[in-house]
Amino acid sequence: MNIHEFQAKEVFRAHGIPVPDGRVATTPEEVATIARDLGGPVVVKAQVHSGGRGKAGGVKLAATPDEARHKAEAILKLEIQGLPVRKVLVAPALDIAHEYYLGIVLDRAQGLPLIMVSREGGIEIEQVAREKPEALFRHHFHPVLGLREFEARELATAIEPDAKASRQIAAVLRKLARTYVDIDASLAEINPLILTPAGEIIALDAKINLDDNALFRHPDLAALRDPDTETDEDRAARELGLSFIKLEGNIGCVVNGAGLAMATMDLVKHFGGEPANFLDIGGSSDPRKVVTAIRIITKDPQVRAVLFNIFGGITRCDDVARGLVEAIGQIKVDVPIVIRLVGTNEKEGREILREVSGLTAAETMDEAVQKAIELAGGTPS
Ligand code: GDP
Ligand code: MN
Repeated sequence: MNIHEFQAKEVFRAHGIPVPDGRVATTPEEVATIARDLGGPVVVKAQVHSGGRGKAGGVKLAATPDEARHKAEAILKLEIQGLPVRKVLVAPALDIAHEYYLGIVLDRAQGLPLIMVSREGGIEIEQVAREKPEALFRHHFHPVLGLREFEARELATAIEPDAKASRQIAAVLRKLARTYVDIDASLAEINPLILTPAGEIIALDAKINLDDNALFRHPDLAALRDPDTETDEDRAARELGLSFIKLEGNIGCVVNGAGLAMATMDLVKHFGGEPANFLDIGGSSDPRKVVTAIRIITKDPQVRAVLFNIFGGITRCDDVARGLVEAIGQIKVDVPIVIRLVGTNEKEGREILREVSGLTAAETMDEAVQKAIELAGGTPS
């Protein structure tokens, strides 16, 4: 799960990392009010789950409350990487003497957090890694030991020769590492961390991705989820415990179990088709899941056929069949449906579906996938 910059800054602040003050607004009028309260020049920043906001015109400096209002008006009309801007952060504008990069990600290959630092901050780290790899310092640290004093100092002095500044950077690094571990993040990034002309080190930007699988340990962080950033489909799927990921093809897939879902997608590709989604309805037998799955999939105008691949274990085929009948009763489904049902209660399931017109039954996965591709109009050229 991603959280917004203003939320990430609160998390950093709570861990002792210096961040600027600021407040969130949804209208240009609110922005003007906040700017007046703050006094002096401000920066207005789009709050969307995307990097590169600066380049996209989503970060603007304003000298007066009136200017802040105008800038906010423009920013609140933006779409950044397909994401509409609904909120902005208003913060005092700071003077910058230097911009650094600090970031921590999980290195899955090493099974350790990887901390990365660079003196080349304010630009995307991928670009630094590509164009100036020698300017990027990487170090794995142990999640239980944390980033130790000498490790933090070594990294900080690699990017800042001045002792006073590098001591502050080292302190931020240790706090960032602690934060990353404490909140079960998969990414924690400060880009840029700035040095002000007065010699202060401050996190000017903040980015945190949380590990969904650990969110149950952090109800306070789970509550930061912004419903504005979720599509209706995403929300419906999440609330019913469906794993749904939209893809670019035209074969909608409804499958129980992540492994079978992957195998189904592989097979669709194998026979020359393109899956429109990954969708795992999970192991339980709730007919509502099937209804929601069909609703989500048929909303995608690219879908030309729906492929059901159900291997009944804990999931009972008759429940899936009932869900399907219910869905077809509730939703107008214009595309052909191919279904392969095997396992627990498959006979009962097939019996229920016999009455339903417009369904194509298949015995094997190969057959089901090939039929779905054929009914979707053949393999794409
Ligand atoms: P991003 O583009 O989404 O990463 O947004 P950032 O928050 O990193 O802002 C992009 C750039 O805007 C920063 O690298 C800074 O150069 C600039 N910027 C942001 N806030 C301020 C500020 O308070 N003062 C000044 N002078 N520049 C700022
Ligand atoms: Mn940034």
